[in-house]
Amino acid sequence: MKSYDIATIGGGLGGSALAKSMAERGYRVLVVEGTTAFKDRIRGEQLASWGSAEAKELGLYDLLLESNGNEMVWWDIYVGAGRIAHRDLTATTPSRLPNLSFFHPEMQEALIEAAETAGAEVRRGARVTAAKPGADPEVTVEWDGGSETVSCRMVVACDGRNSGARRWGGFERRRDEDRLQIAGLLFEGMEIEADTARLSFNFVESQGALLFPQGGGRVRSYIASWKALHPRLQGEGAKGRFLEEAKKAGLPPETFDGAAPVGPLATFDGADEYVEHPYRDGIALLGDAASSSDPSWGQGLSLTLRDVRTLRDKLLESEDWDAAGHAYAAAHDEYYGRLHTFEDWFTKLMYEPGEAGKRRRMRLMTGELNMEEFDPFQSGPESSEPDAVTREAVLGE
Ligand SMILES: Cc1cc2nc3c(=O)[nH]c(=O)nc-3n(C[C@H](O)[C@H](O)[C@H](O)COP(=O)(O)OP(=O)(O)OC[C@H]3O[C@@H](n4cnc5c(N)ncnc54)[C@H](O)[C@@H]3O)c2cc1C
Repeated sequence: MKSYDIATIGGGLGGSALAKSMAERGYRVLVVEGTTAFKDRIRGEQLASWGSAEAKELGLYDLLLESNGNEMVWWDIYVGAGRIAHRDLTATTPSRLPNLSFFHPEMQEALIEAAETAGAEVRRGARVTAAKPGADPEVTVEWDGGSETVSCRMVVACDGRNSGARRWGGFERRRDEDRLQIAGLLFEGMEIEADTARLSFNFVESQGALLFPQGGGRVRSYIASWKALHPRLQGEGAKGRFLEEAKKAGLPPETFDGAAPVGPLATFDGADEYVEHPYRDGIALLGDAASSSDPSWGQGLSLTLRDVRTLRDKLLESEDWDAAGHAYAAAHDEYYGRLHTFEDWFTKLMYEPGEAGKRRRMRLMTGELNMEEFDPFQSGPESSEPDAVTREAVLGE
């Protein structure tokens, strides 16, 4: 049986970034990626400023920028037609870094290539069909019409929001109640400033429309909305409706003049799905497999990179990888737990329908709440304490 230090299930952002990072330090890493070519699955394409810092720490920032990245320095927030924030992220965030946007499949392609160049063994078009926990964990890989079982010191499951490895590892999946949903669609030929991310909110309708330019007129647009109040935009036939809803959410009608939708349209539930303590018995969960946070708050890419850095550092610090796995999981509970709490508060603040929601949002309009002073989504999980004082500052309650 072939043997590795690490076998990753999945070669997306999480799997490839970890593989690159460990392979370049001489570890034997196997990456098993189910697809032969990455395609648009409507995933994250806006990396927050704290995620840019994580990418720098991992030595990935320049790689992402050079492969297809676009730096967004400005963070503009509109309520209806009125702009309530025009924020220079390079001056107002702890990392002093901009947001990075990219086309997700191109980002994945660049990283899996980098993992291979660093020395990882990459199998594409191969699927892990089972993982066995234990002191000598194993994964079964179906590839090239055959099946092979390999052993390793640690299985790292980076198999995304529908992770099968959670089940194989005996992890208990938790899920938040349904509140938000998010639809995404890619456009070409949209003439907006490439260095500016735009967020528009319609507080009455509990809807937000987001634009993340990728350069050269390519722009990813998302619509986040209160699930119980809004349609699920899905498929070719709903693309016209997407434009209508984006305008209703606050984007100026001329935004789409000359722009053409390219790629699929789909809507995803926002509700977080996560496990507590994402390590047991030789299997670590990483990225969305550990915690898929509500995409409406744009934290998934940054969290995934934080997971990679944390797990890498714990593994490098200790020969006892079981202890390192537990240390990673404890750290994950702490930083993800913080973001999870902040997301809950901001969902109530920005989207919750009804009188209480309206009262909270008035505080944004009057300037009583300044989102530059408290913004864990750009500044990172440690930038504020998730305590009663901060809660009162955000929700006014
Ligand atoms: C609509 C939407 C919008 C989002 N927007 C943002 C955003 O703007 N900013 C942000 O930070 N985050 C955003 N996210 C979240 C972000 O996309 C994820 O957090 C991130 O992609 C997670 O990376 P990952 O590597 O954990 O998983 P994935 O990117 O899902 O990669 C998993 C990989 O594993 C492979 N795989 C799965 N099972 C197997 C198997 N059994 N064998 C082999 N291979 C397998 C898959 O083919 C895939 O390549 C968004 C998510 C959604 C759904």
